[in-house]
Amino acid sequence: MQQALHRSSLVPRGFVVESACYEGDKAVITVRASGSFGLCPSCGTVSRRVHSHYRRRVTDLPLSERIVQLVVIARRFRCDAVLCGRQIFTERFSDGILAPSARRTARLDSLVHHLGLALGGRPAAGFAKRLMLPVSKDTLLRVVRRRHRPPADPLKVIGIDDWAWRRNHRYASIICNLERRRVVTLLPDREPATAQAWLAAHPTITVVARDRGGRYGEATAKALPHAVQVADRWHLMENASRAFLDAVRKSMRQIRTVIGATTIDPKLLTAAERLQYEGYLRREETNAVILALSKNGIPIKQIVRQTGHSRKLVRQVIRGERQDVFRTRQSSLDQHLPWLDDQWAAGCRNGLNSGAT
Ligand SMILES: [Zn+2]
Repeated sequence: MQQALHRSSLVPRGFVVESACYEGDKAVITVRASGSFGLCPSCGTVSRRVHSHYRRRVTDLPLSERIVQLVVIARRFRCDAVLCGRQIFTERFSDGILAPSARRTARLDSLVHHLGLALGGRPAAGFAKRLMLPVSKDTLLRVVRRRHRPPADPLKVIGIDDWAWRRNHRYASIICNLERRRVVTLLPDREPATAQAWLAAHPTITVVARDRGGRYGEATAKALPHAVQVADRWHLMENASRAFLDAVRKSMRQIRTVIGATTIDPKLLTAAERLQYEGYLRREETNAVILALSKNGIPIKQIVRQTGHSRKLVRQVIRGERQDVFRTRQSSLDQHLPWLDDQWAAGCRNGLNSGAT
């Protein structure tokens, strides 16, 4: 069954097309509301008494590869209610069609909103241009922000932490609602006084998760003395993992001795360790040559001459002192450690009169 395509079916619901024409690269469609009355926004009284007309220009969805401008002929009504302070009011349309003082129809605004959400300001602006939607990147961001309704329930559980405007240069503080997993606000710096002022203005907060530094703790204690302070999981994990890695790094030599060089899997090494490992493989080749010569009873002097390696190196190889995979720098303290241990065990704990001289 075929149905005629009416001009009015192209414009938002509730409008009737008066005329349509092309103006340059735009389609300009003049419309008026199909209803015959207005509702006073102050008292809700129905009025049919038209005071005057005025024109509103709003952008609508594109049509046939053209930007569409709607010229809405809107009315001003008189309010006849005796007790209403308003004498004249302008015609309102429902928010789902055309919001008061909006410059885009609701259906276009919704499209702009979704584009902004999906792509962000600049990429969405580029895409919108291709779709014949005349919006700038700033407009896209503004629409996303305008349509974002902050939750109305009181803030109870928050997290506060450093946030970098520019890493290593300028820092701010970020505050998140941990129940809703949303950012609440950014404070311009990470001064305790700034955080304290913000926290004091939000007395509904009962739990504050923070890092283990003292600044936010101090601010919270002053602003919200009854709030529970907890170390947040990320910082606990971060601190624990750093402590663990420190401990492992310090005992790396012992650990490698215990697990032995045969257990190395090159795939599991870091880039730096892989370089060291490749060096180790080269050293092993040299070692094998020198050891083979030495096993055949060739004196060190001759091995030095034959291989071109230094006398010191050849001697190290023969003594088995050149087999470390990862060569760690020897601390100058290492050779004194047994002596220090003895002193400590003997109860001598003062470095000044330890009698080391
Ligand atoms: Zn009224």
